[in-house]
Amino acid sequence: MSEQVIANNFIHAFIDEDLQEGVYDKVATRFPPEPNGYLHVGHAKSICLNFGTAKKYNGTCNLRYDDTNPVKEDLEYVNAIEADIKWLGFTWENKLWASDYFGTMYEAAVELIKKGLAYVDDLSAEEIKAHRGTLTEPGKESPCRNRSVEENLALFTEMKEGKYGDGEKVLRAKIDMSSPNMNMRDPVIYRIVHATHHNTGDDWCIYPMYDFAHPIEDAIEGITHSICTMEFEDHRPLYDWVLREVGFWPNPPRQIEFARLNLTNTVMSKRYLKALVDDAVVDGWDDPRMPTIAGLRRRGYTPEAIRDFCDRVGVAKANSLVDMGLLEHCVREDLQSRVESRNVVEDPIKVVITNYPEEETEMVTVENNKNVPEMGERKIPFSRELYIDGADFMEVPAKKYFRLFPGNEVRFKGAYFIKCEDVVKNDDGSIKELLCTYDPETKSGEGFEGRKVKGTIHFVDAKTAVPVTIRNYSYLMIQNEEGENVLNPESLVEKKGFAEPLLAEAKPGERFQFFRHGYYIADEKLCTNETLVFNRIVDLKSGYKPE
Ligand code: ATP
Ligand code: MG
Repeated sequence: MSEQVIANNFIHAFIDEDLQEGVYDKVATRFPPEPNGYLHVGHAKSICLNFGTAKKYNGTCNLRYDDTNPVKEDLEYVNAIEADIKWLGFTWENKLWASDYFGTMYEAAVELIKKGLAYVDDLSAEEIKAHRGTLTEPGKESPCRNRSVEENLALFTEMKEGKYGDGEKVLRAKIDMSSPNMNMRDPVIYRIVHATHHNTGDDWCIYPMYDFAHPIEDAIEGITHSICTMEFEDHRPLYDWVLREVGFWPNPPRQIEFARLNLTNTVMSKRYLKALVDDAVVDGWDDPRMPTIAGLRRRGYTPEAIRDFCDRVGVAKANSLVDMGLLEHCVREDLQSRVESRNVVEDPIKVVITNYPEEETEMVTVENNKNVPEMGERKIPFSRELYIDGADFMEVPAKKYFRLFPGNEVRFKGAYFIKCEDVVKNDDGSIKELLCTYDPETKSGEGFEGRKVKGTIHFVDAKTAVPVTIRNYSYLMIQNEEGENVLNPESLVEKKGFAEPLLAEAKPGERFQFFRHGYYIADEKLCTNETLVFNRIVDLKSGYKPE
């Protein structure tokens, strides 16, 4: 599966250097999600980068749950994360839990205390914050900073044994209160939280902080390159400090940062996405409008398109905002030569061909995919009563409107030239049907060389048409006049329509091009043989031109 090997990037240049200089003799990466929500397309970038890099160097990539917070663990999230990684086409070397390393982390903290490099502090969180100083002023040392090793060991043991309440004491690394890097001003490395952990139960009431835990997790697993996002760049000196001072690992990992993925019309924070789910703004984590992997899958995106997208976005240090149009372009490009076309009409209008025999039905030929002749042709029924798309008729035509209007003649794709003779109305003024005539001499594929028509439209045969529900999606977020991201009230527009009979056989998850409309997928949850429900993956028009 060569497409899973990602394009070269600056991270690979670092790795090449490390391998050449013999710093490492293999490459080991990890993908470390916190199981507190579903993965989104930003995570897909990290997944492609970590798994892709391991693949490129014949190395390994672990899936490691970062569960050092004793928050309620949700099995739903764990299962979803694994399903999403597999669906994207990647396989982890080992599945691991950071909480399995709590013992080693505790020993590492004790080691720091023994070396005089960590102390128990009685200051409250607010006091610690107030003592931290600012970017221009150095911090103030805590009165507890110079406690003896013995006292610190005793207090840390008491913390572990549950003698103190939440927040009463913390363990801090003793580094430098006047460091220009705020992260080095005696960061908290352990805190007290009396909570039951999903994995370790009530074994612990002290939990390590991310900056202390993460390097240790990486080192225990023999990770060589710990790839993370830019906001951790300023934490790197602390990452290196922890591993150097704990000293348990002779050849510690190296942290490398890259810019996180940001997409237009999208919010990518698990917390925000969870709020959308909890407030029922969307229909679950896999709502087809969500930027989650589960949402994109249900929407109809393919793993190939998402991997291609991650590859094209590339890996850089500078933050940027990527146009959603690129993601759409990738799926269009992937589907255009893979899926078959079907005739489907939205907001249908009935057409009666008054000069066509009443009892007759003939089968006309249409191509399955106009870009790929090898995908062949199929036959669709044509008879006296048909449906056309609501958008393909205008009673009073606009300028340059070449589709059907009274007095105009168009080609019905695969069939005949058809002329609109009259419009029949209901009592309320709405259109009941169009009375049309066909020209038997103009059948498609029979070498008709007579007069030309400017418009070609598609149709479905009324007798055999199957009703379908069409869910047309657009961006969940749009910008208001102030340029802020707000929810788009029209992110889902549901339409009723009719499809050619073959579509009744669509299986959930099957994709099609709806002729002249876009790419669609039979919804994996809502589509049954009784009720046909399709999600629009993406429309056909490509306003987006990738550079
Ligand atoms: P969120 O802020 O959306 O909750 P997170 O970073 O807290 O994301 P984690 O579960 O901690 O979520 O992330 C797992 C990995 O995915 C981390 O290594 C993180 O850097 C990476 N990641 C998360 N969001 C993005 C993004 N938008 N672009 C690239 N990588 C990302
Ligand atoms: Mg996180």
